[in-house]
Amino acid sequence: MKFFKILPFIMSLALVFFLAACGKESVNSVKDKNDKIHVIATYSIIYDIVKNVGGNRVEVHTLAPVGSNPHEYDPLPKDVQLTTDADAVFYNGLNLEGGNSWFEKLLLTAGKTGIEAPVFRLSEGVEPKHLTSKGKESEEDPHAWLDVRNGIKYAQNVKNGLIKVDPEHADVYEKNAKEYILKLEKLHQEAVKRFSKIPQEQRLLITSEGAFKYFSEAYGFEAAYIWEINAENQGSPEQVKAVVDFIRSKTNPVLFVETSLDPRSMEMVSNETGVPIFGKIFTDSIGKPGEDGDTYIKMMEWNIDIILSGLTEK
Ligand SMILES: [Zn+2]
Repeated sequence: MKFFKILPFIMSLALVFFLAACGKESVNSVKDKNDKIHVIATYSIIYDIVKNVGGNRVEVHTLAPVGSNPHEYDPLPKDVQLTTDADAVFYNGLNLEGGNSWFEKLLLTAGKTGIEAPVFRLSEGVEPKHLTSKGKESEEDPHAWLDVRNGIKYAQNVKNGLIKVDPEHADVYEKNAKEYILKLEKLHQEAVKRFSKIPQEQRLLITSEGAFKYFSEAYGFEAAYIWEINAENQGSPEQVKAVVDFIRSKTNPVLFVETSLDPRSMEMVSNETGVPIFGKIFTDSIGKPGEDGDTYIKMMEWNIDIILSGLTEK
């Protein structure tokens, strides 16, 4: 057979190999990507809990970035894409992701609605507390994670959700959750023990947002704030005046400012009352990677330390 006669055959064979190679490569890269479970967390505290329970099995993306306020968030095109492709979505619930219905709209756009959608509410099983401001009494307070016993419930709910979407690796999630929950139990006990050394009448926390309802009940505190929950009208002159009057009525009050909020309202309160801001406190976000409080456990440890220092050193 002359070479020119078999040339088309060689070429088509080459094409077959070429396509097979391409196909193989794309199958492999898809497989590599799919090997991990792709998870969406609505904010950084959930992001960290999912990382702890999911370990190497998960790749997690947080919608509201570290350091930001998750009550209100504008999802980016990238968030929509990742949520559409996600194997599981974890959110807080309890009225946290409710601002402008941003999360509800995102789920709709991403096709993650309906009873079968892999969307899991981590506050499932938490006894909800409600707002106390006039006209808001029927609204839930979202900050359940600041009571570490609720953080344990979140971890259990993450485990259950991951097992549901990735049942073949249930043993991994069981093991990771067990180890993580042991650490959280230790953290809670440590908090109870250390706070018990502060006399009850001194246990007063003053922050910008009233994020400490669950925390206060767990660890025996009274909490005061400028506004009750992050919303558009936060830090109004009336709100500032009310907390300034409250602070003036107390002996040795201590002010803290949240890492995920604009500090100007608290600075105004500090200027008005002459009471300095003692330090930063973590409520709605963990710290940036490598900085203070960059995990849920570390942010809670930071809070315990700073509150103890603030209430005992002054
Ligand atoms: Zn908040």
